[in-house]
Amino acid sequence: MYRVDIEAKLRGLGLKQSDTVLLHSSLSSLGYVDGGAETVIDSFLSILGEEGTLVVPTFGTLGVITEALRARSESVSSIHPRASVAAIGGKATEICRDHWKAETAHAQQTPYTRIADLGGYVCLLGVDQDRNTTLHAVEALLKLPYLNRTQEATFSTPEGDVSRSWPYFPGPHRDFIGLDKRLRDGGIVRVGRIGNAVVRLMKSRELIDALLVDGKVDPAFVLCGNPNCADCVRQQAAIQRQRIRNENFTLATSGLLAGRYIPQMSESCRSTGIDSIELDYIQGEPAQVIPRDRLSAAVSDLTADGCAVISFRASSVTEHATSLIESAAECGVPRVVFPLTEEAADLISSAAEHGVSISFFNVHLGSVSVYERLAKLKTPGQDINLTFSASNFAKAGEKPFLTSYNAKLKRFTDQLDLEDCTFDGTYTRLGMGNAEIKELVSILRCASFSGYMVLGAGNRTEGDLWASVEGFLHLLDSI
Ligand SMILES: [Zn+2]
Repeated sequence: MYRVDIEAKLRGLGLKQSDTVLLHSSLSSLGYVDGGAETVIDSFLSILGEEGTLVVPTFGTLGVITEALRARSESVSSIHPRASVAAIGGKATEICRDHWKAETAHAQQTPYTRIADLGGYVCLLGVDQDRNTTLHAVEALLKLPYLNRTQEATFSTPEGDVSRSWPYFPGPHRDFIGLDKRLRDGGIVRVGRIGNAVVRLMKSRELIDALLVDGKVDPAFVLCGNPNCADCVRQQAAIQRQRIRNENFTLATSGLLAGRYIPQMSESCRSTGIDSIELDYIQGEPAQVIPRDRLSAAVSDLTADGCAVISFRASSVTEHATSLIESAAECGVPRVVFPLTEEAADLISSAAEHGVSISFFNVHLGSVSVYERLAKLKTPGQDINLTFSASNFAKAGEKPFLTSYNAKLKRFTDQLDLEDCTFDGTYTRLGMGNAEIKELVSILRCASFSGYMVLGAGNRTEGDLWASVEGFLHLLDSI
């Protein structure tokens, strides 16, 4: 290939005098080029003219074309230890100016957004979207929750040595390659060929604006969906954690849904962004029969892993019930959850004695009976709370939202069990049965409910925690 061929191709793609181009390239992908990297650079500079500007990223492993451009005497460099560029042309100084002073490495006041502001292009010459640094600008502009602050770097500037770090810096794996089809379909990328190399040319502003919209709809838009990609699983968890923390209520999982063993529970909480757990079973054993020292060790391990134990839960009231209340007091667990049975009054006085909060879940009773019992149990000085099991109300033949919740039960409710079933008692995915879960979540949110919503409570949820969290967030999105 000769310079005249390359220039003709660049012109054919639409590049012209005065344009600004950020070039990511691989010389070897072109095949034979007479004059090598210098010819490629000369071709671009001749098309762009004196008013135009050619920019290359100069961090990480540098390609031959990048090295050659940077080595030219007329090239200007931006100062940045993590995201620098070099440029030649009319706007080079303006693009590179004070890069290190910008708040982030890639967003406002950096070469990447300045190129967009100048109406410039991103050109991928024989490389893929995974090399497209302007995509980092999109992530940083969105302040995506999985982005991290860099370590502090010390570097020289015209104003002396500077030490600083940058927030919203991208992490390891993202599926940038997967964006290419969306950008082609959206008419944002022009694709051509120079020699053996595929060339992708896009207006930087169009690229950024289109992906800002995508990212606002789905902050995970550049993460891969591979469950075995530890990077993306962690980044997805960071997005979910922020999403969950934005709610007034506390989203928790039952221990059983999170895993059989404590480390497994910690791991599934970590990978889904859940910070709270209702401990009901460990290794298949109900919390009630587990010796206190083992419960205590489990609570400390979970807490150390960043997972708060919000309550112990018993699925039935046995002779061990008061012992579970004592364990909660000793382990620093603030709350116990029991079924609403004849023993409720005894459990209430035991909980009061140990300074532990207590909540009862409805089992087979309809809402009027539940209300009457709770009202009778209420004494001055001790709160009586209801863990609202919509599934159990549905099984009792009621419409949980239309009937049960409105039967004065709202003032007792401090927890909603997130499970769903049909009237005949068949358990379903959330929002697919007759438990009116979506309506209940919605009405509780409308009242800024600050209690608990617990996935897998009642232990009849199908699938794993991942699927449950995803299903619940999907439900939230639809409200
Ligand atoms: Zn990934």
